[in-house]
Amino acid sequence: MVKKAAVIGAGISGLYTCLLLEKHGYTVDLFEKSSTIGGRMASENKSGFILDSGFHVLQTGYPLASSVFDYEKMGCKAFEPGALIIRPDKNKPKVWRFADPFRRPLKGILGVFSLFTTPLNLLRVGLLRMKLSRIKDADVFKQKSQTTLEFLRSRGFSESFIQSFFSPLFGGIFLESELRTDARMFRFVFKNMSRGNMVLPKEGISACPKQLFERLENTTLNLNSNVSLQSEIELINEGKSLSYQAIFKAFAPKKQPSRDVWTIHFAAPKSPLSSKYIMLNSALKSGNKLISHLAVPSDIQPSYAPENQALVTVTVIGEDAKKHDLTDGKSVEKSVIAELSTWFPKQISSWKTIDIQYIEAALPELSSQHFDNLNQSSNMNLCGDQTYHGSVEGALISAQRAVDEFLKNAA
Ligand SMILES: Cc1cc2nc3c(=O)[nH]c(=O)nc-3n(C[C@H](O)[C@H](O)[C@H](O)COP(=O)(O)OP(=O)(O)OC[C@H]3O[C@@H](n4cnc5c(N)ncnc54)[C@H](O)[C@@H]3O)c2cc1C
Repeated sequence: MVKKAAVIGAGISGLYTCLLLEKHGYTVDLFEKSSTIGGRMASENKSGFILDSGFHVLQTGYPLASSVFDYEKMGCKAFEPGALIIRPDKNKPKVWRFADPFRRPLKGILGVFSLFTTPLNLLRVGLLRMKLSRIKDADVFKQKSQTTLEFLRSRGFSESFIQSFFSPLFGGIFLESELRTDARMFRFVFKNMSRGNMVLPKEGISACPKQLFERLENTTLNLNSNVSLQSEIELINEGKSLSYQAIFKAFAPKKQPSRDVWTIHFAAPKSPLSSKYIMLNSALKSGNKLISHLAVPSDIQPSYAPENQALVTVTVIGEDAKKHDLTDGKSVEKSVIAELSTWFPKQISSWKTIDIQYIEAALPELSSQHFDNLNQSSNMNLCGDQTYHGSVEGALISAQRAVDEFLKNAA
């Protein structure tokens, strides 16, 4: 019997579902409602720049992603482990370098004397890192429910260190700056950051879904397809009824609560940073500021910008923009430029906005109950990061779980 399955949604979870189904002998019809594959892992070329959809990196520490993707083939290059931390000031902004003391011991030790924070906070970062490295990945999500903020306080970090370091860093990752995200997710991300690098592919983040797609041999891609489901095994595409052994839904339902983000990409004559770190805004919380972090992707991958230019990417968390009553691109851009003029007073006038992106459903908003039940059996034929956790790793795991569950029931 010919084994046929359908997958709806060609994001990273849908593409990985196709690959796994093919491995089990299935021929797959893949339906995507937009005109491209990749979902949220999208990039476009504009005026010679590669613009990812939002600031998006790959974490080489993610175990499943590392086994699925060939980072070398994508020409991935890494950010420096650590961060630059800026305290904006109209006259002279102060910048500290917070190098990862385990991978850059000398720079890290020098950081202890930079007076950005007390050595005690840095020691606590080290202790947390050591503790998490001893916990198995699968056990990270078995721990008790609390917010990231509660967890960091319970580990003894000072309020000012939480506000000036963890809020902009994890705010930019979780797309919320209150640190209300479940601490189990924090532990997972922190653990993976500690053992891997943040990297960018040469051709932009869309290289990831492209690489997966290129590995598919028995999948037929149907773009611009808005299928309607008739039953668990039947759908209608362009008026034609089709039936399968299984249909996998690899996208989030419209009612899924989510987090939004603004990203502004600037063209600059040269990079404003002198090292390959991302820059965190220490005043995000304490100064009620807007920008969470800034990165210069072209410092890592020169292909992101034309020769003799730099791509500067600024991230504003959606709910922070709302708190400032900023609801349209022009007003976000204006406020961002005003803030940046206190960061780079001499350079900002030479920067040009290339694009203002608003990503409405950037990450799923997941409750603590969701994390309580994370390791229970998954909903068969349903995947996407909203069914596991909001990350590339979460999207891949969701696909694996959905296919495993289906195969178990089909046996
Ligand atoms: C700005 C931003 C930054 C991020 N940064 C990181 C990061 O640094 N590290 C990290 O690990 N993760 C990051 N993520 C998260 C990561 O991108 C997502 O977790 C992952 O891409 C989700 O993949 P998915 O397949 O679950 O969903 P999606 O990528 O959303 O794919 C769903 C697909 O289904 C399609 N679709 C929807 N409805 C239908 C329908 N009815 N019929 C047919 N097709 C449909 C959509 O068009 C889409 O192509 C970031 C996300 C954003 C937006």
